[in-house]
Amino acid sequence: MSKRDYYEVLGVAKSASADEIKKAYRKVAMQYHPDRNPGDKAAEEKFKEAAEAYEILSDADKRAQYDRYGHAGVGAGARGGFNGGAGMNMDDIFSNFGDIFGDDVFGSFFGGGGQRRGGGGQRTRGVRGSNLRVKLKLTYEEIAKGVTKNIKVKKYVVCSTCNGSGAKDKNSVQTCSTCGGSGQVRRVQNTFLGQMQTVTTCPTCNGEGTTVTAKCGSCKGEGRVYAEETITIDVPAGVQEGMQLNVNGKGNAGERGGMAGDLIILIEEEAHKDLQRDGLNVAYDLYISFTDAVFGTSVEVPTIDGRAKIKIPAGTQAGKIFRLKGKGFPAVNSYEKGDQLIQVNVWTPQNLTSEEKALLEKLGESPNMKPQPEKSEKGFFDKLREKFS
Ligand SMILES: [Zn+2]
Ligand SMILES: [Zn+2]
Repeated sequence: MSKRDYYEVLGVAKSASADEIKKAYRKVAMQYHPDRNPGDKAAEEKFKEAAEAYEILSDADKRAQYDRYGHAGVGAGARGGFNGGAGMNMDDIFSNFGDIFGDDVFGSFFGGGGQRRGGGGQRTRGVRGSNLRVKLKLTYEEIAKGVTKNIKVKKYVVCSTCNGSGAKDKNSVQTCSTCGGSGQVRRVQNTFLGQMQTVTTCPTCNGEGTTVTAKCGSCKGEGRVYAEETITIDVPAGVQEGMQLNVNGKGNAGERGGMAGDLIILIEEEAHKDLQRDGLNVAYDLYISFTDAVFGTSVEVPTIDGRAKIKIPAGTQAGKIFRLKGKGFPAVNSYEKGDQLIQVNVWTPQNLTSEEKALLEKLGESPNMKPQPEKSEKGFFDKLREKFS
């Protein structure tokens, strides 16, 4: 399934300000809100799609990554990330709603009752976990083709004893007496718009709706423990040093059942022993002997995709650059592909026997050995121009 452009989803221009994005999201979210479209699956999908777009475009870092690399840059290629909106559940969306609609006026937007789907109320579970950053070193070969990596990450995971609740047992979780379990307290206020119901987070339970009377022994009530987890990541082809992949919900587990943070993977490139990356292109320094340069030869060169054979024509000058089209890196977000550039270096021998010296001295006297640059196909400046054009 191809994903729609996030700007298109919200109906804003690429240059839209943070405020415009917020307003656009509000509009789309209200239009497709499940309370207004009961049982309408298509509306629900649109609602989720908008939430996903907003999550990315409202975060300056994620937006920059998205602008540069498209969906792949914000974790669309990573398992456990967004998959056509399915990675984000309704609770996640609603828990983010506070920022956009404002805690205070939430109730008045949707039918005044503030009753959301599933009777969940404004209740938020626990405390959101923090994001986790890890570095991932990749070889040129892995980057060229894309790779699936299993990485071990030390982080907070949900406590399996209490299943994240932080409570010793079922009986030690009690409904909050201040808010009666809804996680919010309401007031009716008179404003210039008329009577308005305002809703704020319950100060006793911090919006969780419950309080814990006896804590779980394994996690000391935190609902999470420090452990190692293996996470599978699909790295798209063409990533670059410094790029970040976002894996939603794979960061630190939240406290007492709170949403997990994201796992942010920082890409590093492992240096290649023969090749040097330059954007999408790959450079290679080829050394040939003087006689091979004179008579021509055929050589094998390493590429990021195995070895390739190239022909060196007779009379090749040092500094000549051969181009292997399409043998560079793929672009992460398009069908574009770079080239491999092979620069010819002619090896000057440094240790010679007296016999070899005598032969070369004799050869050196021949008029054909004198440089005649005007006869060579291209001079240095032409080549420079060619390389940088
Ligand atoms: Zn526990
Ligand atoms: Zn409460």
